[in-house]
Amino acid sequence: MKRQFTYKESPQGILYLVATPIGNLSDLSTRALSVLKEVDVIAAEDTRNSGRLLAHFDIKKPLISLHEHNESEMSERVISLLMDKKNVAYISDAGSPGISDPGQRLVQKVLAADFPISYIPGPVAAITGLIPSGINSDHFLFYGFLDSRKSRRLQELEKLAGFPYTIIFYESPHRIKATIDDILSVFQHRKAVIARELTKIHEEYIYGSLDELATIDENSLKGEMVIIIEGLSEGEESIDEDTIYQALKTRIKSQMSAKDAIREVSILYKYPKNEVSRLYYQKLKKE
Ligand code: SAM
Repeated sequence: MKRQFTYKESPQGILYLVATPIGNLSDLSTRALSVLKEVDVIAAEDTRNSGRLLAHFDIKKPLISLHEHNESEMSERVISLLMDKKNVAYISDAGSPGISDPGQRLVQKVLAADFPISYIPGPVAAITGLIPSGINSDHFLFYGFLDSRKSRRLQELEKLAGFPYTIIFYESPHRIKATIDDILSVFQHRKAVIARELTKIHEEYIYGSLDELATIDENSLKGEMVIIIEGLSEGEESIDEDTIYQALKTRIKSQMSAKDAIREVSILYKYPKNEVSRLYYQKLKKE
């Protein structure tokens, strides 16, 4: 166990993870601004991109590049700066470092080297999208990006289908259509929101059911997006296992393939496909 104060005058360097805007530059907090102005070195995911942000705020600091592909080596460089009693800030391309962006490995390495770390809070696209979505924000799961491969993506979704709380995904514009179609095939008719271009001039919230969202013209879904889906509702849960089991049994008896039977029962009863599949393999198939 260890306890570390990060506010006190530190005899050693401190690493600050600083949240930056996800669109609107005015969202850089005054505290973020003063930390960026006071540190000795700024490490950035993309020094060119962050260079523009820093120039806008007239911040001139030595920049080093720390991205997904060099995070481990560059974390060592950050640690050597902290050893030299330098304070370092890390900024990712947009929003909060470590949230679907580099930063997590840096934190782990700096913690292991025993230096203090502080997060300067600010924008996170997931939270910015969730709060006005109208979907339950008491309990939620931030999932981030689904796998880019369809089969893996479907497996991931099937694991999440029985989750009773809100789920938040990130997605890039070129995959949004395929992802919404896959989410619909597993999650069925649930309520969902696409939150697009948050904090920018084309900010838009699209509220509907997943089947409605799946009909949207892809060309109107440009820019950055967060997808927010309601969790499995109590109504959906209340179908008992025996009903599902009997429905499966009837179909298998009538020579339907296991794959089709599982899919059909899952859709018909709005029951998580992985659960129907479990019933088939662990119970019905063994009879
Ligand atoms: N670190 C960022 C954060 O704190 O939210 C996330 C970075 S991740 C590489 C980029 C993804 O975040 C995008 O594909 C999109 O899903 C989401 N995102 C980022 N900015 C957004 C915005 N302005 N509006 C909607 N979604 C956004």
